[in-house]
Amino acid sequence: MKTYRIAAIPGDGIGTEVVDAGVEVLKALAKRDGNFAFQFDHFDWGGEYYKKHGRMMPEDGRAQIKTHDAILFGSAGHPDIPDHITLWGLRLAICQPFDQYANVRPTRILPGIVSPLRKVNGPELDWVIVRENSEGEYSGVGGRVHQGLPIEAATDVSMMTRAGVSRIIRFAFKLAQSRPRKLLTVVTKSNAQRYAMVMWDEVAAEVAQGFPDVTWDKMIVDAMTMRMVLKPESIDTVVATNLHADILSDLAAALAGSLGIAPTANLNPEREFPSMFEPIHGSAFDIMGKGIANPVGTFWSAVMMLEHLGEKPAADRLMKAIERVTADPALHTPDLGGKANTRMVTDAVIGAIAAENA
Ligand code: NAD
Ligand code: MN
Repeated sequence: MKTYRIAAIPGDGIGTEVVDAGVEVLKALAKRDGNFAFQFDHFDWGGEYYKKHGRMMPEDGRAQIKTHDAILFGSAGHPDIPDHITLWGLRLAICQPFDQYANVRPTRILPGIVSPLRKVNGPELDWVIVRENSEGEYSGVGGRVHQGLPIEAATDVSMMTRAGVSRIIRFAFKLAQSRPRKLLTVVTKSNAQRYAMVMWDEVAAEVAQGFPDVTWDKMIVDAMTMRMVLKPESIDTVVATNLHADILSDLAAALAGSLGIAPTANLNPEREFPSMFEPIHGSAFDIMGKGIANPVGTFWSAVMMLEHLGEKPAADRLMKAIERVTADPALHTPDLGGKANTRMVTDAVIGAIAAENA
């Protein structure tokens, strides 16, 4: 029997609450399936670790998780520590060196969940946003000088490389090709940013030549927000830069009902390093410790992890169990307008896994 070694890194805030729930659900699923098992190794990295050790993860942290089959991540973000320290010290300290350059973010309206968009109740909104996850606006290139003086200056330089742009655009074309509609939108801002984004557009047109069966179009990011709201049915697969896709995917999650249900996979497609699966939300300081965080985003991320591991039947079973639970408004957490809590939703999904006889 195959045993998958999973590094569980809950991080901070509701990250710990939803990752605990995710681990429970995955254990129940392995038990139900019987063909594979999980070995979870838990890492207490994050804000509390930082307070004790002055860093978010140990110096050899990446070496400790490098040979795991996958990483299940919660959130980096602590109320007492500046956000750029927690994010760069943990999440980006894993994503970037592990070359998890493709960040895949599916969005659809699960059964029982109401979109804030009038007239949209299901099939009109079924998207996958592909986010460039290794460079661009979050390259970490820049600096600050003359801090605190009136002449203080600061830069964040968006670095784009032909290699980095080509691989993410190619990844997105392949993904679009694998979906029934074979439709890709390339998001850009080459009207205002006249160097890197122009190269981005050129690379897109070049890569497109290799995918004659994929219909694609180009959309300026501001207009894209409007299209997502007014013509959601015209969109299928989307590729955008690190910053643009970060913003568009929170919008997508909200249009599909809540940030709390949205999943993501940080993929190293070449499998030279473990890939990392996490809900797209953060630590949610406003609700942490209350036991009411929606765990569905983490459960859906676990589905993506199972698909990545090649356990498709188990992935399908978990997705069906999630949908069975969202279909019941009595099992909605407050972010979806309901009264349920994390425990109830987790128990219900575990119950649905047992009941699912696929
Ligand atoms: P957030 O995602 O933590 O919260 C935004 C809003 O959505 C809050 O009102 C929150 O209560 C709600 N929400 C989010 N997830 C929810 C869930 N599962 N169930 C119910 N409601 C949910 O974003 P923020 O407030 O901008 O950031 C808080 C902290 O998290 C910051 O430190 C930020 O840097 C960090 N963060 C980390 C990641 C990450 O590690 N991947 C992602 C985003 C934000
Ligand atoms: Mn984000």
